Amino acid sequence: MGKSFETAAAGKPISSGRRVVVSTRNRGKLKEILRLLERAGLAVDLVTIDEIAPDLALVEDEATFEGNALAKARQAAVGTGLPALADDSGLEVDALGGAPGVRSARYAGEPSDDERNNMKLLGALRDVPAGERGARFRCVAAFVDPAGGIEISRAGVCEGEILDGPRGNEGFGYDPLFFVPPLGRTMAELDLDEKNGVSHRAAAFGALALALRARPSR
Ligand code: IMP
Repeated sequence: MGKSFETAAAGKPISSGRRVVVSTRNRGKLKEILRLLERAGLAVDLVTIDEIAPDLALVEDEATFEGNALAKARQAAVGTGLPALADDSGLEVDALGGAPGVRSARYAGEPSDDERNNMKLLGALRDVPAGERGARFRCVAAFVDPAGGIEISRAGVCEGEILDGPRGNEGFGYDPLFFVPPLGRTMAELDLDEKNGVSHRAAAFGALALALRARPSR
């Protein structure tokens, strides 16, 4: 990719033109993250983990979103020698006591399959009435730079409700079932920029970008 996202409004870059690897293999997430970072105006040269280390294993077996986000960023940073960005995210459903949570990607087993996850979620909520189907997406975004001894993470959340059937074709994961009340649409009925206007990932990466820009240049 090798695209620099420097803009006139960039403020203090973490390090102008420096290469940073984005540690995710989820194509839906990647699209959102790249657009969010572009919008944040960080003066870095982004590469994806698949571009420079396609065989590097990214293990996420921590009990929290923060633990997994930092783990994925650390593994990418150590494996590539570059500073790394990562996120960990998932869906918490009130009627299910917060499940599927950190196990959202593998809710219906491995390998991860969005369709099967959504079917399982609909089944689990079959007898739960409208009004008791509250849920939220959570995301933790992390930046790790071993050379600079830097580890930063920031969280974001998006509140919504789980519908009793899918709506929309955009996005990924649980988006077709996740209704966003202020917009009157599901996440899958929003285009990329609309989703990035309200999402948990946008909140987390926005806060992370602010924290990075507040650091002195190196
Ligand atoms: P992980 O962060 O790689 O563990 O995967 C997070 C999982 O949570 C995804 O595979 C989706 O199932 C779900 N998820 C996280 N964020 C979103 C989102 O923005 N839309 C829909 N599903 C999401």
